[in-house]
Amino acid sequence: MDRSVDIAIVGGGIVGLAHAYMALRKGYRVVLFEREQFAVGASVRNFGLVWPIGQEPGVMFDRAMRSRKHWQEIADAAGFWINNNRSLHLAYHDDELSVLEEFMRLYKEEAYECTLLPASKVASVSPVVKEDGLLGGLLSETESTVYAREAIRTIPHYLVERYGLILRFGHVVTEITLPNVKTARETWTAQRVYVCSGADFETLYPTHFDQHQVTKCKLQMLKAVPERPVSIGPTLCAGLTLRHYAAFSRCKSLPALDKRYDALSETYKRHGIHVLLGQNAAGELIIGDSHHYSLTVEPFDLEPVTDAILDYLSTFAELGKLTITERWNGVYPKLPGATELVLHPDENVTVVTCLSGAGMTLSFGLAEEHLAGL
Ligand SMILES: Cc1cc2nc3c(=O)[nH]c(=O)nc-3n(C[C@H](O)[C@H](O)[C@H](O)COP(=O)(O)OP(=O)(O)OC[C@H]3O[C@@H](n4cnc5c(N)ncnc54)[C@H](O)[C@@H]3O)c2cc1C
Repeated sequence: MDRSVDIAIVGGGIVGLAHAYMALRKGYRVVLFEREQFAVGASVRNFGLVWPIGQEPGVMFDRAMRSRKHWQEIADAAGFWINNNRSLHLAYHDDELSVLEEFMRLYKEEAYECTLLPASKVASVSPVVKEDGLLGGLLSETESTVYAREAIRTIPHYLVERYGLILRFGHVVTEITLPNVKTARETWTAQRVYVCSGADFETLYPTHFDQHQVTKCKLQMLKAVPERPVSIGPTLCAGLTLRHYAAFSRCKSLPALDKRYDALSETYKRHGIHVLLGQNAAGELIIGDSHHYSLTVEPFDLEPVTDAILDYLSTFAELGKLTITERWNGVYPKLPGATELVLHPDENVTVVTCLSGAGMTLSFGLAEEHLAGL
């Protein structure tokens, strides 16, 4: 076969797929290499949340909203599930309510689509919210959910059928010397390459990462089914999440909340725990997570961390007895203080990585920007 393309993509996670999608839509001939037989990286291990509310206003929120539009389009066209179910940040303490109120004041001119609900209105939005002690909730209209493993494994085949993507699963790219792109079995020629290899800094261009403070973050996750089937409504979270996302970082009321949680338990900060409750089309609950940072990732999951996640979940969601059906961990690359790392190690080679905990939220928008420049 003709092994020459306009664009080669390394990596079949969301970053690689988003770049492939944008390139194909512009009419380029594209090959995508994925070392595994099907994607098993961060992109299938996450909550599947498209989460603009976590992004700072301006460039990042806009990028997230453009991504969300592309998620809707590709889900409709490829036929996988997407739920525009929104998000609800719950407040049970005065300091949590203060952060939500300040957020509303601070960003009233920005594009967030939020309403601060009194406690009496929250129950009508989600039947599982714990009402005891509830002070209010920030309802945001802009969040969507996909079932990550379904979406990420459907998209490549849709791109083959709809746009003629050339798919090379089971092919590790071992060397790029343009125009040559080599795998263990084949050599292709390409005009341009996007390296979207996630947390793999070791195989391609390893020395280019040395000057950046990149690290890896391991997160513990689980899937559970509730005693009785229930639709949770919006994706739920509470006070701990307010100290996790950039959108709330400018709130002057945040340090008081931070301090109270640190005094309450050092476990949360030590293990980077904040808790999101998501749900897939089958009604299963996706629950997490924790954050442990190191360049080499410990394979061992910590049961006390899972216990702490479930304990915190029970402070804001009433789900009855949960049966845990899956536990796993995921790893994403992280560049502290940055939203992504884009390198150009050679002419016409672009490395796109370190989207941290927001790759599902930002990748389509970022890829659109990259391909717009061609
Ligand atoms: C537990 C967890 C929960 C998260 N929740 C969310 C969320 O709800 N919302 C959100 O926006 N983000 C979330 N994230 C972040 C998001 O999942 C990541 O930012 C995103 O998946 C990164 O995508 P990627 O394509 O860079 O990496 P990956 O999905 O890891 O893909 C990289 C791919 O490259 C392949 N590869 C590597 N090297 C080579 C090579 N040399 N040749 C061929 N193939 C290669 C790998 O096999 C892999 O499949 C979460 C992350 C985790 C871990």
